Amino acid sequence: MKVLIVEDEIKTAKFLKKGLNEAGFVVDVARDGLEGLHLALEVDFDLVILDVMLPSLDGWQVLTCLRQSSRPSLVLLLTARDAVHERVRGLELGADDYLVKPFAFSELLARVRSLLRRGPARAQENIRMADLEIDLLRQRATRAGHRLDLTSKEFLLLTLLARRAGEVLSRTLIAEAVWDMNFDSDTNVVDVNVRRLRAKVDEPFPMKLIHTVRGAGYVMECN
Ligand code: CA
Repeated sequence: MKVLIVEDEIKTAKFLKKGLNEAGFVVDVARDGLEGLHLALEVDFDLVILDVMLPSLDGWQVLTCLRQSSRPSLVLLLTARDAVHERVRGLELGADDYLVKPFAFSELLARVRSLLRRGPARAQENIRMADLEIDLLRQRATRAGHRLDLTSKEFLLLTLLARRAGEVLSRTLIAEAVWDMNFDSDTNVVDVNVRRLRAKVDEPFPMKLIHTVRGAGYVMECN
């Protein structure tokens, strides 16, 4: 399990790293918000422990950017004592849990373990983009409240694009992810299926979400 600690207080960061290492976690430390965000976007961490008060970007900005990206990492927010509004704001912005400073290491470890056991609470169940909503548990998608009639492959394709919104996905990557095809096979199947998906997801609606990037692949974004 890989954990990223984003904390500018060196003493706290060291103490957390040491404790988590001893508990068997692989740990990286970032000392400010910008470095933390870069690391969190580059590396697949299972959990990000994010302090709110940070130089360069604060914890809110890091959390917001992280939640707009496709990284599904869990986020445990470290907030100031008695700042209830901070906790509420953190959860609204998509933090999975929070811990109030100062805390005992045993408390942090218990929280980390329970989060990792539980998995992402909300992010996994629903994906939203503009008026598109994907319900992963029920395997249903709607746009502007209208149920989309999708085949299971189309649903998978839509979910892949939506989970990695903003990222250009190559035909090869899509073919591998949705059809388990090897990268050398004919990726025409991707074009055909994206066209069918668009007819259902985009054509009836004014705002288009699935875009072709010439020579590169497909991207899902609101514009
Ligand atoms: Ca701090």
